[in-house]
Amino acid sequence: MKKIVDLHCDTISSLQKSGQSLFENSCHFDIKRARKAGIGLQFFALFAMPQGMNASLRQILKQVEKYHNELEQYRDYLQSVYTYEDIVTADSAGKMACIMHLEGADALGNDNEILNLLYRMGLRSLGLTWNNRNLLADGVGEEPGAGGISNKGKEIIYLMDKLGILLDLSHSSVKTYYDGFSFYSKPVLVSHANARSLCNHRRNLDDSQLKALADNGGVIGVNQVPEFIKEDGKPELNDLLDHIAYISDLIGVEHVALGSDFDGSDIILMQGVEEYSKWPELLAVRGFTATEVAMILGKNALRVIKAVL
Ligand SMILES: [Zn+2]
Repeated sequence: MKKIVDLHCDTISSLQKSGQSLFENSCHFDIKRARKAGIGLQFFALFAMPQGMNASLRQILKQVEKYHNELEQYRDYLQSVYTYEDIVTADSAGKMACIMHLEGADALGNDNEILNLLYRMGLRSLGLTWNNRNLLADGVGEEPGAGGISNKGKEIIYLMDKLGILLDLSHSSVKTYYDGFSFYSKPVLVSHANARSLCNHRRNLDDSQLKALADNGGVIGVNQVPEFIKEDGKPELNDLLDHIAYISDLIGVEHVALGSDFDGSDIILMQGVEEYSKWPELLAVRGFTATEVAMILGKNALRVIKAVL
């Protein structure tokens, strides 16, 4: 597949609230613009603010419904991904592949059955926490002194391993991050974060964390929320390319991917998904070879997805 892979957007939860359509909307992402920009695979996060597991589950289920409703309505353009083969099929049919992701597993409570059920509903990617602590693990918002993954969280990771659900370590506390590598047997995603050495934000990864990601064979999707790129919150495109270059130099270009965070913040670096059309040239001008550009835009992410799904 020569198209772009993006590991994180919050568009579905935003649309579920506003009632807008995925085909055309005022969000950062819609099908019309994504097709033009050459998006081959998009991760769609389901997300509910921390509020207790039952309220959380209810909100997540409404988003699952929105996701399937949009995918069904626009099935001429979209295909839901359950196996790696589905990505290949979608690509040859000229459709955009879609992966359902759960950002923060509060809705699971401590029930394996809920994970099994969400898997049946199409879930193929999961981050144990958002910024908060839940029954499974601590998020980055619990720092300093945050804990890691609980015994139940460990059990959920084993289940993810068995089912074939991608593990996303974005939003993890430091201990949760390293615990993730010890409990999960496959390469992981850090779907939307940048390098802490260039921008000291708690959600970014320091050099040791990046090196651990390289040892695991995983990928980090570079995030376009301004505060994650430059501390003054006023980055230019070149500042994000600096993160890509820095991470590539430190751990190798094979670990760099894209994780825009479309609709995860009111303002992101790009106006919207349409601007991804400029990226092949931007990366080339920045000095990446054609092979490296293809890796960053999609091949690296596909390698991890293939290893898990
Ligand atoms: Zn996030």
